Amino acid sequence: PLYSPQTGVYSSKYPSINLPSDPLLDVVSFIFSHKHDGQHALVDSPSGLSVPYSKLSPLVKSMAAGLHHLGVKQGDVVLILLPNSVCFPLVTLGAMSLGAVVTPMNPLSNLLELKQVLDCNPTLAFAANDKVDELVDALAGCPVVGVPEALDLNSLSTDDSVFHKLISSDPAMAPRPRIKQQDTAAILYSSGTTGRSKGVMLSHGNFIAMIEHFVRFEATLYDYPSSENVYLAVIPMFHVYGLSLFVLGLLSLGVTIVTMKRFNADEMERAIVRYGVTHLHCVPPILVELTKRARRGGGSSFRRLKQVCCGAAPATEKSITDMIETLPHVDFIQGYGLTESAALGARGYNAVGAHKYTSAGLLSPNVQAKVVDWVTGAHLPPGSAGELWLRSPGNTKGYLNNNDATMVALDKNGWLHTGDIVYFDQDGYLFVIDRLKEVIKYKGFQIAPADLESVLMSHPEILDAAVTGGRDEEAGEIPVAFVVPREGSILSEAAVMNYVAKQVAPYKKVRKVYFRSSIPRSPAGKILRRELKNLLVSKL
Ligand code: AMP
Repeated sequence: PLYSPQTGVYSSKYPSINLPSDPLLDVVSFIFSHKHDGQHALVDSPSGLSVPYSKLSPLVKSMAAGLHHLGVKQGDVVLILLPNSVCFPLVTLGAMSLGAVVTPMNPLSNLLELKQVLDCNPTLAFAANDKVDELVDALAGCPVVGVPEALDLNSLSTDDSVFHKLISSDPAMAPRPRIKQQDTAAILYSSGTTGRSKGVMLSHGNFIAMIEHFVRFEATLYDYPSSENVYLAVIPMFHVYGLSLFVLGLLSLGVTIVTMKRFNADEMERAIVRYGVTHLHCVPPILVELTKRARRGGGSSFRRLKQVCCGAAPATEKSITDMIETLPHVDFIQGYGLTESAALGARGYNAVGAHKYTSAGLLSPNVQAKVVDWVTGAHLPPGSAGELWLRSPGNTKGYLNNNDATMVALDKNGWLHTGDIVYFDQDGYLFVIDRLKEVIKYKGFQIAPADLESVLMSHPEILDAAVTGGRDEEAGEIPVAFVVPREGSILSEAAVMNYVAKQVAPYKKVRKVYFRSSIPRSPAGKILRRELKNLLVSKL
């Protein structure tokens, strides 16, 4: 049964996948243990420069040997501040195979934001060549290796940059450390249900479980061979969605991954046509752009597209139906997951079930859920909405150096409290209807209100401030600030927005400001976030 009224547990309707039981296993060996007949592994979309599968494992080994030679050891943290590129997976897999812990971060993060999250003590950082100088100052004491936009395998011998030395090291010199499945492979920053950004520790075992889900389940649902599939990597590899797909999961299947540095609708269309992209993973604003493009060009550019998957934030019903009408030959699915679950959760799986496009999908194999009334704690049956709890082999072991936050997110029975308000229908389809947690999702990117509140509170003319997400047609949500100015202040909306904009990455900017005489707070001083949302509605 999908739902047990006794325990309140929802189970996947798919049989569980047997996961590798050997405690000594690392995710990189696991990826390379899969056999497939794929040719091109990674292709840089503007230049066409590519890395074939035959070179992938040797290059990763070279990177590991080079990092080892540089002094990077098992357990060291390697910071990755890179946009998508063919080099991103090489660096990440090289470091992980050494037993180092990778911390991928948004390369647009500014210096102040970087400092806030450097509780992971990186020993080495990778950044785009043109960012190295500014980062060297910010990451005092941590060397920064510049990474080229694309990798030209034919010119390796003529280049003497540190990156090229690393990538052309002797692969035979790569160390073979004893890595356990439970060892941390990556730390990804997320605000979880409350507060500021925290380091989510994801283990080799979490990623192995996620990869098995692709290889042993999802790939078997569709009847075309994986090596003919071409995926466009437009969503960022530093986020769990892109990391789990383009750096880890899909390389085990032999698919081709075409990398795009950042989203741009023209370039996306060009890349889809030029490389015959069959699979597009996107976030809601990209879905809207895709439909616009397809309407304009009559859809002929997108002939070879077979599947579009949208996740990371809620997509509107209209954007979904528009897309399906415009590109009727394309299989549309949604995916649901979190950083804290290594992206495991639910997927559309339309090929084997009813087409419920507005649903976030069916529970993936090995994933269990509960829907819990957040006031009474009662577990709820299909049709009733409550907080989603998840238990799966993807669940994080916790937040770095933050036991209190870990205990809030993960209970003693291993349930991850997602902070999302959902219900399951009678057929087991998941519908995400709201969020209890504070995070704002701007175009699928996470913004922690607490991070912006601390910037606002540092302004000498601001007495109190609170930030919440306001609905926005294009971005999904935008950060809106409520500000209490000090007496005599002549602060304007623009001045507040500029002040914040100077201190945060561009996507985190406050985009609307309301001045108020007070912020709704509990007697203990906690911001009453539900009231903020109500205030926002009353302003509209
Ligand atoms: P992140 O840790 O950045 O991946 O954010 C995870 C959060 O994104 C979830 O807890 C949801 O709030 C939201 N999310 C992810 N996928 C979906 C989806 N398909 N529909 C609605 N919200 C989603």
